[in-house]
Amino acid sequence: TATPTEPESVVKKYLEELKGAPADEDCMICMEKLSSPSGYSDSCQSSTIRPEAVGRLRNCQHSFHMLCMLAMYSNGNKDGSLQCPSCKTIYGEKTGTQPKGKMEISTFPQSLPGHKDCGTIRIVYHISRGIQGPEHPNPGMPYTARGFPRYCYLPDNEKGRKVLELLKVAWRRRLIFTVGTSNTTGESNTVVWNEIHHKTEMDSNLSGHGYPDPNYLDNVLAELAAQGVTEDCLGQ
Ligand code: NAD
Ligand code: ZN
Ligand code: ZN
Repeated sequence: TATPTEPESVVKKYLEELKGAPADEDCMICMEKLSSPSGYSDSCQSSTIRPEAVGRLRNCQHSFHMLCMLAMYSNGNKDGSLQCPSCKTIYGEKTGTQPKGKMEISTFPQSLPGHKDCGTIRIVYHISRGIQGPEHPNPGMPYTARGFPRYCYLPDNEKGRKVLELLKVAWRRRLIFTVGTSNTTGESNTVVWNEIHHKTEMDSNLSGHGYPDPNYLDNVLAELAAQGVTEDCLGQ
């Protein structure tokens, strides 16, 4: 396991401190002018980051108070990664809060509606109820896990196999599920899908999460990319 990194050093790794603040720009995090001190000066204190310090993210070039970025980072799951609040560019490797469980993969010859020329990949996710950790909304409280194991389907063609490999990366990074409130049932403190859609029906489409759906593979590739999971992650 990696040694925990100081929040300050994560902020300094990805933001380059500017000599002068851009004159008329606001900080997207605290909504104050970048030329005035961070709006988080009272609630977030640091011995090495001044309330006036302004930094620019290295790749996307968006600027924020460095203290605001520190407050934002400290409010998250502190995994060493940062996400630009303006354009959502991810710095480092974003991880989620998916509880422990198991991902199983198998294939079978029957084809999916809309993918008649190949067989099918089946993913089975197993997660059991447990106690929430510090990364969850209510640490120490139980969470439920409804409807597990959950069965999901992909066409067993080149693009489907690529999505599968990326889903394995997302699983390792704990991005497929989270603990929260279910939109479907309204239950809180329960395991729910995160922002990466899965097809849970193969030969019917009663829920709207079935086949055929000609855009599904492209959509899920975009959702994976939004979590920082792209082809660049394969082979790691
Ligand atoms: P949710 O309802 O909070 O929704 C989160 C995301 O999952 C949304 O993007 C939504 O579009 C998507 N989603 C909703 N229903 C889906 C489905 N059937 N297949 C694939 N994606 C779906 O998330 P949740 O509570 O984790 O998921 C709800 C689904 O999980 C239910 O429709 C049901 O299939 C299953 N579930 C089953 C039981 C059970 O007791 N059998 C209990 C709870 C949930
Ligand atoms: Zn700010
Ligand atoms: Zn940005």
